[in-house]
Amino acid sequence: MKVNFLDLKSQYHSIKDEIDGAIQEVLERSAFAAGPFVKAFEEHFAEKQGRKFCVGVSSGTAALHIAMMALDIKAGDEVIVPVNTFFATPEAVSLSGAKPVFIDCEPEYYNVDINLIEPAITPKTRAIVAVNLYGQPAQLEKIREIAEKHRLLLIEDCAQSHLATLNGRLTGTFGVCGCFSFYPGKNLGAYGEGGAVTMDDENLYKKVMMLRDHGSPQKYIHELIGHNYRMEGIQGAILDVKLKHLPAWTETRRKNADLYRKYLADCPQIVLPEEMPGARHVYHLFIIRTPKREEMIKYLQEQGIYTGIHYPIPCHLQKAYESFGHKRGDFAISEKYADEILSLPMSEQLKEDEIIYTSEKIKAFFA
Ligand SMILES: *Cc1c(COP(=O)(O)O)cnc(C)c1O
Repeated sequence: MKVNFLDLKSQYHSIKDEIDGAIQEVLERSAFAAGPFVKAFEEHFAEKQGRKFCVGVSSGTAALHIAMMALDIKAGDEVIVPVNTFFATPEAVSLSGAKPVFIDCEPEYYNVDINLIEPAITPKTRAIVAVNLYGQPAQLEKIREIAEKHRLLLIEDCAQSHLATLNGRLTGTFGVCGCFSFYPGKNLGAYGEGGAVTMDDENLYKKVMMLRDHGSPQKYIHELIGHNYRMEGIQGAILDVKLKHLPAWTETRRKNADLYRKYLADCPQIVLPEEMPGARHVYHLFIIRTPKREEMIKYLQEQGIYTGIHYPIPCHLQKAYESFGHKRGDFAISEKYADEILSLPMSEQLKEDEIIYTSEKIKAFFA
């Protein structure tokens, strides 16, 4: 048996007619850069994610960067970010000119350790980026309290947490804005690149709209230095089709996570992911831990099972941040986990027999 880490082709075939029709319509109307298909998607996505406004942009990285630009985060400012995240989170801070200040993750849920936020605050701190990593909400209520107490902006990185909730409230609605990615492998993925910023504040919305289009409120009038961060029309049309399926796909991911838990319950050698009380995890990734990771990857691959590592090098140890002077030992939990985490195959296309096969091979590896 072969178990893909992700199966975007079979997802496409499950909705082929709708997708082909949507692309055809964009071609017929030549609405390629932003335009009506992006606008329709923005309205639907804002509604699904519980916000008044949404701006479609060209990637999740662009979403984070443009949000920081719109919030006037700039050189001389500091922004607190977890070290256990995809590189784009601190990278967007650096692109804004500000300095990312790294902190470690909590041991149980992999998200930022809230006890480490206040000690990292300085007079220069302007914002905290809470990443809802792997599809699990961070401790957003408590992070929000800390942000309010210190008058800091809370920006949510929701690149992996579409439709995730904490105590019934959607991620992306706790802070000033939510930043989403529609990279093909994300829970809601474009057929190319895409991202979005969601918010309730109309002035922030207008500013993000301008910044994604050369600081332009109308054609050839430029009020700000912005970017070309527009979402493509074809991606907007595709995302609008897929958005209708996202609630059902999310349920299937959650069911698949339960199946892994069931079939791996008698495998004490690995640590399974835990759901934080009150959290509705959407399983962008299903992360296990084992000190025997490298051998396990090799063994599983020989059995036709493809896994991933998210992420093998914590951000502070990346060469790009060499000048910060961090060293191994600075963020012990993230560093230890980077050596032990393994992402099992996970998607809404994954079938129960594939989960059984993968679980059995994991147990056979230890036997
Ligand atoms: C994917 C991702 C991003 C970046 O999104 P892109 O669309 O790839 O630019 C940012 N943060 C996190 C946590 C991500 O997983």
